[in-house]
Amino acid sequence: MAGPGPAALENLTPMLRQYLEIKQQHQDSILFFRLGDFYEMFFEDAVKASEILEITLTSRNKNSEEAVPLCGVPYHSAAGYIRKLIESGNKVAICEQVEDPKAAKGIVRREVIRVITPGLLVEEDSLSSSEPNYLAALDWEGEQVHVAMVDISTGEVFLGLYDSEELALQELTKHGVKEILIAPADLQRPLVPKAKSLLPKLLISHVLAELPNEDGKGVFSEAFLKSRAKVEGPAALGLLDRLLNYARSTQKAPLKHLSEIHFVRGRQYLGMDGRTFRHLELTQNSRGEGSRHTLYWALNQTQTAMGARRLKKWIHYPLLDPAAIRLRQEALAELLAAPELLVGVQEGLKKLQDVERMLGKLSLGTVNARDLRGLALSLEAAQALVDQYRSSFSSEFLHGLVEDYPDFSELCRNLLSCLQAELPLTIREGGMIAEGVSAELDELRAISRDGKSFIAAMEEGERKRTKIPSLKIRYNKVFGYYIEITNTHRDLVPADYIRKQTVANAERYITSQLKEYENKVLGAEERIKALEYELFCRLREACGAEIEAIRQAAQALGTLDVVAALARVAREHRYVRPELVEEKILDLKDARHPVLEQMRSEERFIPNDLKMDEETGTLFLITGPNMAGKSTVMRQAALIVLLAQMGSYVPASAAKIGIVDQLFTRIGASDDLSQGQSTFMVEMLETAGILAAATERSFIVLDEIGRGTSTYDGMSIAWAVAEHVAKELRCRALFATHYHELTDLAEQVKSVANYQVAVKEWNQQILFLRKLLPGGASRSYGIEVARLAGLPESLLTRAREVLRRLESAEDGALEKLGPRPESPQMGLFAAREDPIRAELRDLQPELLSPIEALNYLFELKKKV
Ligand code: ADP
Ligand code: MG
Repeated sequence: MAGPGPAALENLTPMLRQYLEIKQQHQDSILFFRLGDFYEMFFEDAVKASEILEITLTSRNKNSEEAVPLCGVPYHSAAGYIRKLIESGNKVAICEQVEDPKAAKGIVRREVIRVITPGLLVEEDSLSSSEPNYLAALDWEGEQVHVAMVDISTGEVFLGLYDSEELALQELTKHGVKEILIAPADLQRPLVPKAKSLLPKLLISHVLAELPNEDGKGVFSEAFLKSRAKVEGPAALGLLDRLLNYARSTQKAPLKHLSEIHFVRGRQYLGMDGRTFRHLELTQNSRGEGSRHTLYWALNQTQTAMGARRLKKWIHYPLLDPAAIRLRQEALAELLAAPELLVGVQEGLKKLQDVERMLGKLSLGTVNARDLRGLALSLEAAQALVDQYRSSFSSEFLHGLVEDYPDFSELCRNLLSCLQAELPLTIREGGMIAEGVSAELDELRAISRDGKSFIAAMEEGERKRTKIPSLKIRYNKVFGYYIEITNTHRDLVPADYIRKQTVANAERYITSQLKEYENKVLGAEERIKALEYELFCRLREACGAEIEAIRQAAQALGTLDVVAALARVAREHRYVRPELVEEKILDLKDARHPVLEQMRSEERFIPNDLKMDEETGTLFLITGPNMAGKSTVMRQAALIVLLAQMGSYVPASAAKIGIVDQLFTRIGASDDLSQGQSTFMVEMLETAGILAAATERSFIVLDEIGRGTSTYDGMSIAWAVAEHVAKELRCRALFATHYHELTDLAEQVKSVANYQVAVKEWNQQILFLRKLLPGGASRSYGIEVARLAGLPESLLTRAREVLRRLESAEDGALEKLGPRPESPQMGLFAAREDPIRAELRDLQPELLSPIEALNYLFELKKKV
């Protein structure tokens, strides 16, 4: 670091030397060094922080050669500054005075009490309430990647093993991880730059030193330790411990609020790759504007932050086990059947604060009295809710949530009776504990209060005694209480007054009686603060002892909130309960797109039926002009599958759905420019990835793939891919294409069916009917769409002419139109006396199988 040189070290003040010693231990953090009422930063930290925070950079020893750059922020408003530094990807180490400056001999002892990092935030004003805040640690074992994650604000812990970096990356992006912990040797892994580009605010931290492991007793919760014992393999265990050691060493506190470990292994949830996630706009919209117009947005009728976060989790992890899904469905059914129950539950939930986020603050000891009162009020409200409905819930799922709901009545009574109604933010200045809690406190308060009237009475008495009507008893921080007498009355001052200070036109005195009383009053105030702090700590400990129960309550309440929200959505938007089956079926009546239907106001959303099974076909080739609604009808099917496996009802009038193991969606390159990876190569790589990973139970949506290359290439590839999906994978798939030529595939493969999104031609214009109907479109209508987009009429007429000639493929068709286009494929039509041309003339395409045609095309291309 750019600190002073070794020679200059000698000349430093002891305070700066202490600073440097501490900084040495926290080189990767900005050190907030407490000095009186300020946090000061020095050297490089000062330069960096002053830039980010836009505060003035000054320096110590301005005139000497070794000037020390310096900037500072007031202690009381530090939170905002810390947040800004964290958001710009820094860590902040908070260094406090750890002994009373008055009692200190020499320099006050200081210690870093906590390191705040983007992945380890607990203060709720630095956190988005609907989003978890994850710190992840990664480790590689061959191809496989172990991922451990913790949300310190709520205590959630995940441990997963992924078969590839790609899958691990998906997990990280899914959760919007804020910080990852990686061994220095792994920094060159390809995953690192990818993660950085997908998560722009990500901080990469590396573990500088391994910390010694302890047995964890007294540090972690029982639930956590029990599940830790189930972790298999030294790699996973080592990783988990590294992560938690990092968390502990920065937080400098036990982590008693950690939950049992949530294992994410293999096939427990509906599989979705990262692309699918983004294309379906589940929790993040593709315009990078947060969650607006996403599935989450359409479903979020939750009343609490706990519910909002849990809803995202349900969306991220749809289930596979039909029995587990049915339990959720039954819970929804119960709330839907009893509207007053649903309303009552939501009303009750509305009153709750974010009890779950309190866990992190409790465990790390950053709660104040206001938090504790808020916690008590929320727990009390939750208790009332649970008590009211405990006996009404009959479904197994809802009953399970409230059955073992912990009893907090004693804790709440204790907190509410001990704390005042209006509470300060600080915990060291008193004003927290109610009257009647501690006899000693009440007595001290009486002294402090009486002190004030005593002074008033004394003032009155002294005026009478000295016959000085303007005599005043005042107080200031330096002298304490004193008697002030203006110079006009100086002669009347009694002999027992001791002069202390002369000011402009008055003298200030003290008396022994006054000082004696002062000691008592001021002493009382100091003592009050100390005693209140002590009593507060006891309340905090009482809550700390209930962390496990509070977590259990928060989980139950969050889950109840999600169920109620889904029921509410189902009621408001007329969703139905899907029937889950084992067969490869997807049968939807009057299905709607859950997000679009809530978004649009002008155009009514038109429902569609979709029936896939062994008989009608499992691969639908959907043709139709641009803008007809192909993408919409396909995404809506994928979203409905996902909703069903979340346990939600679905936007349709009837639905029968065979459980899906993995959901894939892929949008053709030209439709996906927003990702900045529009190359055909990427598209093909991903298509290959899907084909390799999908099983017969998967559901694939391919939207206009093969677009990123020339027409014939693209069409051939689209053909071959569709054929492969239908014949080899035999899974359910929706396949939109503007190559109407592909419709021939249906004649050759039994499981392929042609569908189109119907339009009506009228007066050279097209009318979008938005209806999915059997049969293939015979043409692409691109020109009509171009007209909609406002291209000039003369241009459209010309385009129509070109198209007509191209389609009739008459000899020399293009020459007659004028200059020959440059594209090599176009050359196929225009070449003259070319051997290839001759070959083509003799070719009988009707005798070729698609694969032969494809090979032939490649051959031709090679020759060209
Ligand atoms: P395509 O993929 O065929 O080009 P899209 O699915 O992108 O068409 O649909 C184009 C637009 O049409 C969408 O933005 C949507 O606003 C509207 N749309 C699609 N389907 C429907 C429908 N069923 N009801 C009403 N509007 C629809
Ligand atoms: Mg489309």
